[in-house]
Amino acid sequence: MKVIVVSGGVISGLGKGITTSSLGRLLKARGIPVTILKIDPYLNVDAGTMNPYQHGEVFVLDDGTEADLDLGNYERFLGQSLSGTHNLTTGKIYRAVIEKERRGDYLGTTVQIIPHVTGEIKRTIREVAQTAGAEVILVEVGGTVGDIESMPFLEALRELSYELGEGHTAFVHTTLVPIVGPVGEAKTKPTQHSVRELRAIGIRPNLIIARGSAPLAADIKAKISLFCDVPPEAVISVPDQPTIYEVPLVLEAQGVGTRLTELLHLPDRPPDYAAWKEFLTTYRRSGGSIEVAIVGKYTELRDAYLSHIEAFHHVQGHLGVEVRLSWYDAEDIPKNPTLLARIEHADALLVPGGFGVRGVEGKVQAIEVSRTRRIPFLGVCYGFQIAAVEFARNVLGLASASSTEIEPETPDPVVCLLEQQKGLQGMGGTMRLGAQRVVLTPGSLIARTYGKTEVWERHRHRYEINPAYFDRFRAAGLAITGTSVDGRVESFEIADHPFFVGVQFHPEFLSRPEAPHPLYLGLVRAALARKEVPAPAARPPALS
Ligand code: GLN
Repeated sequence: MKVIVVSGGVISGLGKGITTSSLGRLLKARGIPVTILKIDPYLNVDAGTMNPYQHGEVFVLDDGTEADLDLGNYERFLGQSLSGTHNLTTGKIYRAVIEKERRGDYLGTTVQIIPHVTGEIKRTIREVAQTAGAEVILVEVGGTVGDIESMPFLEALRELSYELGEGHTAFVHTTLVPIVGPVGEAKTKPTQHSVRELRAIGIRPNLIIARGSAPLAADIKAKISLFCDVPPEAVISVPDQPTIYEVPLVLEAQGVGTRLTELLHLPDRPPDYAAWKEFLTTYRRSGGSIEVAIVGKYTELRDAYLSHIEAFHHVQGHLGVEVRLSWYDAEDIPKNPTLLARIEHADALLVPGGFGVRGVEGKVQAIEVSRTRRIPFLGVCYGFQIAAVEFARNVLGLASASSTEIEPETPDPVVCLLEQQKGLQGMGGTMRLGAQRVVLTPGSLIARTYGKTEVWERHRHRYEINPAYFDRFRAAGLAITGTSVDGRVESFEIADHPFFVGVQFHPEFLSRPEAPHPLYLGLVRAALARKEVPAPAARPPALS
């Protein structure tokens, strides 16, 4: 087993996840089997109970784990699906150690951070690498070096490196080189301090990835090299890129792939980036543009919708059309009529997932616009459920229709709690989660969009479309086109509309740069078609 440890210094939010994913890609391009593990030093067992404003979106894995959003970056960059063991938290480690202690596994000993907590961390890392059949495991340590919470993890990695011996571990430290002052001077001091912090705990970085707004000049690289005890070629400059998918090539161009294979005593084969480069070439060449309006409740923090944003990037790299996203806070829509008028001019509408009452009315209004103005629409999870509410209110004439999540006493609960959720205690990991089989109606728009009638998609919800309203929906033109094996509604569409599709699941989690998700492709293609051929309503009436 070989290990690459990626730590971060100076500040969080440097793109450590993208760096780690890109390093994985460099090795994968050389045919080396890799996997990635993320350490989140917080005490939560998983990210499922966290507000998106704290840590961005909750990324759901096939096995139903509610993970940190970096797992999404890993899956997208590696083109591999990961399981919940690839997201380690302090909560998980402590839970395992305490369970062992209660079972008597440590009988007679005093249970301590070192060696018991560090031992459990090392055991998990080895197990994850082995189960994944990976030759190299990349371990990203969340947070910033110096944080109290990450200490046991860094100590465990230091021990692991010693145990594995020479040529088995590489330490990569990601830092910020800020550019300050009137003449735009690059400052190395924060990097020096964070490397000193790392060395104080016995870790010497082999590579320093310097993030910043501009490329590093040779003298700055030399300075970092001198102060931080790494060769100048091991100081890598990664300035901000137009798209994160450029980063593997930026690293490759500075010899990082070869350097990693040298550090880990691995054969250095010529890397293959054919599909990756094709994606980037199409992405950069994009001509024309379409605008997708996104109506959500956490729009101030784009990370809350990261996988949707990436899914649209994947479409851009596939179709060669710039996809511009315009963001609307759902709560503002009822207060400001000009916002609806702007949404009316968008080429497509996406209403993503969410929870709770806030912003619901704005989403209903935006969906009504897309339905009546024939604007291509994709409703995901809560967006799908709210589309059912909109249809019930405005087409079925059930003015008070709602979801029991919004209005527990509504006379028309068109969306209601899933049977298996009733009486459930506890909030962590209790929703209907993970990959589930969805059967699609042959000939439906969604089946044609996927090009198949059976798909596996990831879920995260407590509520569902109420079966008592199926017949009325169908009779009024909302066709149920996808169901789960146990008969839950998974998707619907309006036949007499260019693209009005709602899905209970989360397609955004499965989109990859080399394989964009069919529903995002379908939405954008419908938007393009509508742009080229004016919608019937906009044409002058035919002469008879
Ligand atoms: N709040 C809805 C539910 O629990 C939708 C969840 C979501 O959008 N992820 O069913």
